Amino acid sequence: MVIRGTLMSRTFSSGLVTAVLLAASAGARAQDSLHVWTGAADPAALETWVNARLAVVKANIDKVTAVKGDHTVANTVRPYDDVQNELALAGNEAYLMYALGDAAPLRDKGQALVAKVSSVQTEVSLNQAVYKALAAVPLPANDPATKHYIERALLEYRLAGVDKDDATRAKIRQLQDKITEQSLVFGRNVADGKLEIKATKAELEGLPEDYIARHKPNPDGTLTLNTDSPDETPVMNFAKSADLRRRMYLAYYQRAYPKNVAVLRSILETRQELADTLGFKTFADLAMADQMMGSASNAAAFLKAVDDASRGIADKEYKLLLNYAQAQEPGLKSIPSSDANYWSEQYRRAKYDFDAQSVRPYFPYAQVEKGILSTAASLFHVEFKSAADAKTWDPSVTTYDIYNAAGSDHRKLGRIYLDMHPREGKDKWFSSAPVVPGIRSRQLPEGVLICNFPGGVPNDPGLMEYSGEVVFFHEFGHLMHHILGGQGEWANAGAFNVEGDFVEAPSQMLEEVFRDYGILAAFAKDYKTGAVIPRPLVDKMNAAGAYGRGSWVQRQLLLSTYALQLHNRPPASIDFDALWKETFEQFSPFTFVDGNRFYAAFTHLTGYSSNYYTYVLDKVIAVDFFSKFDKANLLGGPAAMRYRRTVLEPGATKPAAELVQDFLGRPQNMDALKSWMGEQFKTTATSTVQ
Ligand SMILES: [Zn+2]
Repeated sequence: MVIRGTLMSRTFSSGLVTAVLLAASAGARAQDSLHVWTGAADPAALETWVNARLAVVKANIDKVTAVKGDHTVANTVRPYDDVQNELALAGNEAYLMYALGDAAPLRDKGQALVAKVSSVQTEVSLNQAVYKALAAVPLPANDPATKHYIERALLEYRLAGVDKDDATRAKIRQLQDKITEQSLVFGRNVADGKLEIKATKAELEGLPEDYIARHKPNPDGTLTLNTDSPDETPVMNFAKSADLRRRMYLAYYQRAYPKNVAVLRSILETRQELADTLGFKTFADLAMADQMMGSASNAAAFLKAVDDASRGIADKEYKLLLNYAQAQEPGLKSIPSSDANYWSEQYRRAKYDFDAQSVRPYFPYAQVEKGILSTAASLFHVEFKSAADAKTWDPSVTTYDIYNAAGSDHRKLGRIYLDMHPREGKDKWFSSAPVVPGIRSRQLPEGVLICNFPGGVPNDPGLMEYSGEVVFFHEFGHLMHHILGGQGEWANAGAFNVEGDFVEAPSQMLEEVFRDYGILAAFAKDYKTGAVIPRPLVDKMNAAGAYGRGSWVQRQLLLSTYALQLHNRPPASIDFDALWKETFEQFSPFTFVDGNRFYAAFTHLTGYSSNYYTYVLDKVIAVDFFSKFDKANLLGGPAAMRYRRTVLEPGATKPAAELVQDFLGRPQNMDALKSWMGEQFKTTATSTVQ
């Protein structure tokens, strides 16, 4: 799975569902004035620019609260949206310079300004005068988008606690600050928590040669390995020694233990106190109140339904895996969880005869980028034009303007920036983020991809793995949603403003598109010979990729259930270890390894809190969406345009459940998920194992 930087931090970090880094402007102005990197990207310039945005925030708050007489959409909702727009511009810019800035002082300034904007956002969310003004606007019956916008804003205000007295609101701010601070400590303990283990040379058997060469022996002949992923992942996947795998597994899951035990308890207690203060039984109920899910009891029922749909398939997968492992190691009774990756890797290779390295020559970065743009252009009926003269924060960033290509209307829709390769000091993950929210007739939406793919340097073709391409197209899906959904009247009703537990559905849907042979063959050509990727290779790749989906879903249920359980009961009474083991044994067929302290490094608990279920809910919706596409004619069929119109373009002007209903003609159900999980048993690809 991909972690989506700003999306994660925006949603539940404070327990209140206020969009911190998102949202809107005052008066028409040139698009270029919406960025501070135009000109000197130095810390002082960034600060001056962000402060100017915050001054406009204040001016618009004054406009909202100074209205004499009747409150209207024009005199109240418009300046309110301008407040949100300016907060978004300021927060996005500060975040981007924090994540992408070319020097440490700029990044530090960015980080400080993110906190500052976030604090102003909290202040706005507790401003009673603004809330009362919005509540006094008559809901426009003939304008459902604006009606929904106002209703949602009022809901967010109530969830933030705006209607509480002064002392209570002061307490809410204090609790939120504490949650934010403790969440940062939790995350830092994980990031800094590197443990070492010793291995003998013999125990490295099975690991790649470059891995072995990288590790020089200590004077006593042993080798030192650590829990960072370049050392850890290959051991879990390839090391033949079960004992080494077990030692690495335990070190990895203990890297923030016991430090994070007290921190986690403090976060959970503070969240519960916040829920109590706001009149919710549990924090899970608070965190789900403005989501598709609605409540903790709905979440529990949903997880049960997914369990019913997936358990049988996961059991079947495990039996096949165990049979295979027993054939290799007679006498093996069961598979400990520390050996799950190793046996899955062995089984996948034996059964599907597919080596992920073998497709890389067909995927040099530059070709992949072209392929993704042209696929998106066909699918969504848009055109990308290079904006080579656009100013950016780094010369390696490429910029495209997007134009409509449906019908005779060829207007410009927005701009995207692709910052795709590693750079000293740059954020190391893969994410997409809004830069500028869209406002019809006034401000075009802009977005950015922040990635770390190979390539981007002279003489390096940047050969990608297929999984990297899927990540690329996934993140690109967020951008398309942002651009196409950012053509409406309100800055704060764009694609990134939909319910947090729907935001991954459109991008997960695109992951499915990218398994189509015709789409891949259009650009996947050997970087030396120009030969098109052979169909049998893609078939094997897809078959290998379909293996283990039932187990993947069960793993998601394990994590979702644990996250929910930590937030639906009194935190003081929770025994983290006992609850983790009990939940693990409920969902995992692998044997629990004592000493597994997974929860102490479960960083999603800070960003998603109780709502980790988002991944599996959006997978259910994504594969249901994809079931409506004509597999024989993915790009040319009518589904794509209908999808653009009904799911992407509305942005957040409707509840997400209505977007789903509008496209599917019904609410989502489990049928498509079942068929997605079962695909592996229908394939006729090379099979050497029963
Ligand atoms: Zn995503």
